[in-house]
Amino acid sequence: MIMDIDKEYVAGTYNRFPIEIVSGKGSIVKDVNGKEYIDMGSGIGVTAFGIADDEWQKAVIDQIGKVQHMSNLYYTGPCAELAKELCTRTGMKKVFFGNSGAEANECAVKVARKYAAEKKGPEYSTIITLRNSFHGRTLTTLSATGQDHYHELYQPLTPGFVHIGMDINELKDAVAKNKVAGILIECIQGEGGVIPLDEKFAKELNAFTKENDILLMIDEVQTGNGRTGKLYAYMNYGLEPDVVTTAKGLAGGLPIGAALLGDKVKDVLGFGDHGSTFGGNPVSCAAALSVIGRIDDALLEEVVKKGDYVKDQFKGVEGVESVTGMGLMIGIKPKKPVAEVLKYCMDHGVLCLTAKDKLRLLPALNIPMDVLSKAVAVIKDACAQ
Ligand SMILES: *Cc1c(COP(=O)(O)O)cnc(C)c1O
Repeated sequence: MIMDIDKEYVAGTYNRFPIEIVSGKGSIVKDVNGKEYIDMGSGIGVTAFGIADDEWQKAVIDQIGKVQHMSNLYYTGPCAELAKELCTRTGMKKVFFGNSGAEANECAVKVARKYAAEKKGPEYSTIITLRNSFHGRTLTTLSATGQDHYHELYQPLTPGFVHIGMDINELKDAVAKNKVAGILIECIQGEGGVIPLDEKFAKELNAFTKENDILLMIDEVQTGNGRTGKLYAYMNYGLEPDVVTTAKGLAGGLPIGAALLGDKVKDVLGFGDHGSTFGGNPVSCAAALSVIGRIDDALLEEVVKKGDYVKDQFKGVEGVESVTGMGLMIGIKPKKPVAEVLKYCMDHGVLCLTAKDKLRLLPALNIPMDVLSKAVAVIKDACAQ
């Protein structure tokens, strides 16, 4: 049994559900017993166009047949083309590629510290993040993460991080008390419970960081790549970031991370300042080119429409306390324990995620309407039972 082998040999960091997935297509996955599920989590927002999508597969297979890896000692097409595409679509100027969200955020921290050290002095090293945020599992990105329970086992963490609430006065206070290089925020806290940034705070934050030459860095690892109905979630808020980090959905299911660097910081990293063996891998980049190429206005409109549909369906419904989120990043707070709702859904063929005390939905961006409405019906039942 795969479950037994996994339990014996894979490090015990994941409390997996007792389901072994063997295949799938689009938003439907199948387990080892042939039972089908609607996938409302898409691998935590990774399989942007679903499982084994034809167009995505073609992009990946074509590139695997040409060259799968060459290291960063040589030029390869997909890496350069993807960087160009990301910059063209965002107005950012350069891209550093890694392999995960945490690595993208590590790059952002390095860029902020080097920029501030050169411009203001090496003591300007503090990075501000929000309480209840999530930025990754490496020691530095754990330090950035504003939730104490992630920190307890791994002291000492990287110094130089200060956590604040969504309050401009707390930000001003933190900047007065520390030598600050930058601020790193999520536009919707994903792991933190699908909590959107306050709009007023976002505007004040944007102005304050510009006035004080503090880098505004947006963690779009989960919210990016069409998830919220814009290419990047900061576009919903009119923010003008200096650095944007992204990962999860970017390559539709292959490992990738990217730090997009704006005008101020585009030349901060020089030869030897940073690197990654796998970063810019041609297969991941070819996959990402295909994903980004499909996130056009028509698709984004669909994402907004489907997201509004889901939110409408849960407003004022029995057993539901609140609904949050944007586009196809949705948090539903049930009145009963979320674990019970999740279990009911699973038993009735719908796979969802949780975040804190909420059910979290991150379906594929192209989930068909009839599949989505089936899942919604099951989740409604689960909340009402
Ligand atoms: C998932 C996530 C990360 C970490 O990404 P990894 O690829 O697991 O390193 C960082 N920030 C946010 C907002 C995330 O949702």
